[in-house]
Formats: sequence, C-alpha cells, structure tokens
Amino acid sequence: MSRNFATEIKSPKFKDPSLFCKSAFINNEWVNAKSGETYSVIDPATENEIGKVPEMNVEDIREAIKAAKSAFKEWANLTAKNRHDFLLALHSQILENQNDLATILTLENGKSYNESLGEIRYGATFVEWFAQESRRVYGDVIPSPFKNHKIIVEKQPIGVVGLITPWNFPSAMITRKVSAALAAGCTVVIKPAPETPYSALALAELAIRSGFPKGVINVVTTDKHIKEVGLELCTNLDVKKISFTGSSAVGKLLMEQSSSTLKNISLELGGNAPFIIFDDADIDSAVEGAIACKFRAMGQACIAANRIYVQSSIYAEFASRLADKVSGFQVGNGFDPKTTHGPLINQRAVNKVTRHVEDAVAKGAEILIGGTKHTGNFFYPTVLTNMTKEMVITSEETFGPIAALYKFETEDEVMKLANDSPYGLAGYFYSRDIGRCWRVANALEVGMVGVNTGIIHNCEAPFGGIKESGLGREGSKYGIDDFIDLKYVSMGGL
Ligand code: ADP
Repeated sequence: MSRNFATEIKSPKFKDPSLFCKSAFINNEWVNAKSGETYSVIDPATENEIGKVPEMNVEDIREAIKAAKSAFKEWANLTAKNRHDFLLALHSQILENQNDLATILTLENGKSYNESLGEIRYGATFVEWFAQESRRVYGDVIPSPFKNHKIIVEKQPIGVVGLITPWNFPSAMITRKVSAALAAGCTVVIKPAPETPYSALALAELAIRSGFPKGVINVVTTDKHIKEVGLELCTNLDVKKISFTGSSAVGKLLMEQSSSTLKNISLELGGNAPFIIFDDADIDSAVEGAIACKFRAMGQACIAANRIYVQSSIYAEFASRLADKVSGFQVGNGFDPKTTHGPLINQRAVNKVTRHVEDAVAKGAEILIGGTKHTGNFFYPTVLTNMTKEMVITSEETFGPIAALYKFETEDEVMKLANDSPYGLAGYFYSRDIGRCWRVANALEVGMVGVNTGIIHNCEAPFGGIKESGLGREGSKYGIDDFIDLKYVSMGGL
C-alpha cells in the first residue's frame, strides 16, 4: 500500500504581495464588515490560519447590491466593444499575475501548485472567451404575419446578479460566471466560499487594475452569516438573478427562496458521474482518463467519476493498472514541488470519505490501495474493488479520492445502473465500437458526456447538468444567455 507523502515545503512567496487582499470589495473600495467582525481562513495543508477576512452580514450585502444597482445602467449602456476591452484587460492581468494567483489558490484550497496554475489558466480562458462573445449578442428580425409590421427581438442584460461559488475551484468558478455576466452587461455581487475568499479578492484587485468602473464587480465575504446573506440575495428585489455552484441541498434551498421574487436562477449542482469501461476499450487510455477524471482536485469536483463500471472480462486488469498508477502519486503540501495531490479541504471532507470507505468495506469491498487518512486533512488516494449498488458511494457523491470499481456484464445492464441516479451532470465511457459510442452517448442521462476521454471541461463547450444536477449552462456560446432577457418589440405602422 502506498504511503507516499511529500514533506519538503517551501513557504509561499508573492511577487506582488498586494494581490493578497484581506478586505471585502464594494464599489471599488476595500471595506471591512460594518460590525467589524472577521473570520479566520485556514490553510487545509497545515491547518494554520492564513489570515482573516470580514464576516459580513445582511447590512453589508445590501451595500454591495446597492453599488451593483447604481453601476448597472452605465455598464449595460456601454458598447459591447467597451465591455470586451475591459474583459480583455482583465484576462491579461490574470495571465501576468498567474503565479501569485496560483500561490493564493494553493494556500487556501490546498491543491498542488501545478494544479492551481492550471486552474488559473483555465479560469482565464472564460474571461477571454466572454470578452469575445460580448460582441456577438445578436438579436433577431422575424417575418411578421401582419402588413407594415416588424418583429424585432433584442437581448438585454438581466440586471444585478448574485453569484455564489464553491471552494473546489475558487478562481475558475468565479471567472466562468462573472465574465459571462459582465459580457452580457450585468453587474455582480460575488459571494465566494468562506474557505477560499482570497482568490476572489485577488480577482477584484485585478479588476481595479483593469479599469472596471466602480460597482460593476463587488465581493462580499461571510461565513457564519451565510444563511441570512443567501436569503437576502434571493429575496432582494434589486437582484435579478442568482447563479450558484455548490451542493444540491443548498441549490434547492436557493431556488425555493428565489421563488418569492420569481428570480431567474442558474444552478450547477452535485453529480454522481458514471465512468464506464467496455471490454472493447483501449485500456491504457481508459486508465489515464480515469486518473484524470477521478483524482483531479483530489476528486473534489462535481464532474469527477463517482461510479467506475468495468466490464467483467477486463475488470481485474483495469483495477490493477489503475492501482499501479495511483501508487505513483505523491500526496503532500501543494507547495512541495514533488506533490501531485494535496489535502482535502477540511475534516468534514476527510470524515465523509472515511465513512464511504468503511461502509464499502463492511459490505464486502476490497481496498487495492489507500483507504486511510494520513494526518490532518490528508487522505490517501484509494482504489476499491467489489463495489455493489448497496454501498453508500453508489448513491452519494463521494467528493474525494476514492475510485470505486463495479463489475458489469452487458451494455443493457450498465446503462440501467448508470442512469439509476437522480443526478445527471457528467458521464464518461470508453469503447472503440462506433455504434456503441453513439448509442451510449445518446442514452446517458447527463448534460455532458466524455467518450474516450476523462476531461470534458473547456470554455468552448456548454457546462451543466440535467435532472437534479442543475439548471442552465456555463461557458460556450450558450453561457451568456443565462444573463440575458429577450425583449420582443412589435413595430407597427411602417
Ligand atoms: P459545501 O458543503 O461543499 O461547502 P455548499 O453548497 O454548502 O457546499 O457551498 C457552496 C457555496 O454555497 C458556498 O459559497 C457557501 O458559502 C454557499 N452557501 C452555503 N449555504 C448557503 C445558504 N444557505 N445560502 C446561500 N449560500 C450558501
């Protein structure tokens, strides 16, 4: 069993320490909570305090909403080219400062520095993409059934948007939402996850440097007041839309709360991704895909493979090759250059994966590698075999580094198993049979399918789920529509 643990820790150094901002950001000003309250942010690798940020409450959030509302008209009335230029300036700022941004990300989230750098670059692609998309928000002219009449469809920004984001991709989940909203002409109030506020605040600092007008981007930080702050965002009449990425439970609550004002809402929620390897697959590439899909961000991703189904004739071989690859991982502090995989975010996450492994083992699963925690928030990447549908992992998103391998016999059988979930975010499969590729891609009840690939995220493609995995799409040519209202103008007397 692997016990690889990297220990050489270089303390993080900033080229530009002013990116490590410790106040909230409202109306282009760095502000504290009106109450003066703060909360501590913890480094998941060392469990030391990184710093404190404002613990804001409803009063503060109202200030941020007011600022975003005051800024809206002017921002919406800029030309698309103007907004494009602001976003491109921000894109350049992000790339120029990518090393410091990655340092902040590793510090607060724990992922390896290389993974953080990857996230910053990935996040920047959305800023560039939506800068370009802002110039293509085309309307329509529709043939009218009446004489001397024209039907015109215009696209208008929705208004002030409340964005609530998670800790697993503290930078990219923000840029993916914010750049689409800003490109459409909306202004935003961002509420980052309490665990990872610094990545959001660094982006705010870069927004100032990119010349964004005041009030267009606001960032509020809160931890223990989140319920009231969330309720305020959902019920405040000046907020016209909520865009949320996070757990299904909170997503459903936000939708319920938003019903009082019939607020437009986009939700990127949990998944329970099936990852199927048929016996005609290229096993090497399936192992590689499974590694990327399962262990990126230590499995703390909503599109991570949760249930890995392997056809019986290749099951043993796939399992041993996967475990072999996992044995090469170096778990450790993200700043150690040898580290390939960092810690989990906190003890709650460690307890959850521990419970999942214990439940599976008690019901007959076998641990091929890993299966235990190290110290603190570190958990060894794990491969479990002999999984059955009675085990908790089958129905609960594990959100951790547990590759759970199920054996199946036929395509029909595995399709029923794969679709037997209320969630429908991502699904993956490996096969070299072209007929099967079309058939299975079509039948998987998910919003995104990876065929012979374990990596499906990019700014060009629409990201989002069906069933209880969410509403709306992010990225791609569709992503901007989530921040737009259609207005039909009927022009008569022509
Ligand atoms: P996790 O359990 O992984 O942290 P959550 O869904 O709780 O996932 O968190 C995702 C985001 O939702 C975070 O920014 C968090 O602060 C926020 N959040 C949690 N509870 C609420 C709530 N009641 N209202 C609004 N936002 C919330």
